[in-house]
Amino acid sequence: MGLSAVFAEVKKSYFARFDRERQWRARFGSATDMTDEHGYCDDKTRTIFVSRRYLRASRDELAVILIHELTHAVLRSASHGAGFMRRLERAAKKADRLKRSALGALLRAHVVEYKNAERVSPATIYATMRDLVGELRPATFEEALKILGADYLDEYLRKCRRLESVYRKEMGLWAPERLE
Ligand SMILES: [Zn+2]
Repeated sequence: MGLSAVFAEVKKSYFARFDRERQWRARFGSATDMTDEHGYCDDKTRTIFVSRRYLRASRDELAVILIHELTHAVLRSASHGAGFMRRLERAAKKADRLKRSALGALLRAHVVEYKNAERVSPATIYATMRDLVGELRPATFEEALKILGADYLDEYLRKCRRLESVYRKEMGLWAPERLE
C-alpha cells in the first residue's frame, strides 16, 4: 500500500473533519527543518514529510507516522504534550474499533516511547509489552524492544527487570536458561 493511499485512509478514519478541501499531501523526503526523526509536518506547503527510512515500511508503520504528524497539523502545535498524547491514545482506541488492533498496539507503543520515560510507570511499560507482543508477535526480544521505543530503553530495562520474561511468557516461550 503506497504512502498516498495510507494517507487517504488515515485522514478518513482518524481525522474526518480535517482537510475537507484535500489540500494536504504526504510524501517521502526530508524538510530542511525536520524536527522529528520520523516525519515533519509543514503548515505552509500543507505537506507531511515522511522520512526516507520508511520507504519500505508496512501500512501500519506508515499509519503511525502519518497519525503523529497529522495530530501536529490538527492541533497546530509542535508540542508532544498531554493534549497530543491524548489524541494519539484516542486514535489507538479507534484503530481497535476498526479491527486494526495491530495498529492500535503500535500507536500505544509510540505513545509510551514519546512520553517522558521518567513518568511512565513500570505497570504501563509491562502492559504495553504484553499488548505489542500479543498483536505483533515480534520474533525476538530485541525486536520487541525496538517497537517499545529506542530512546528510553536503558530507562525501561532498569525500571522493568522482568521485561524479557514478560516477552517470553506472552510468546509462549520457556526460558531455557532457567530450566537447567
Ligand atoms: Zn512530533
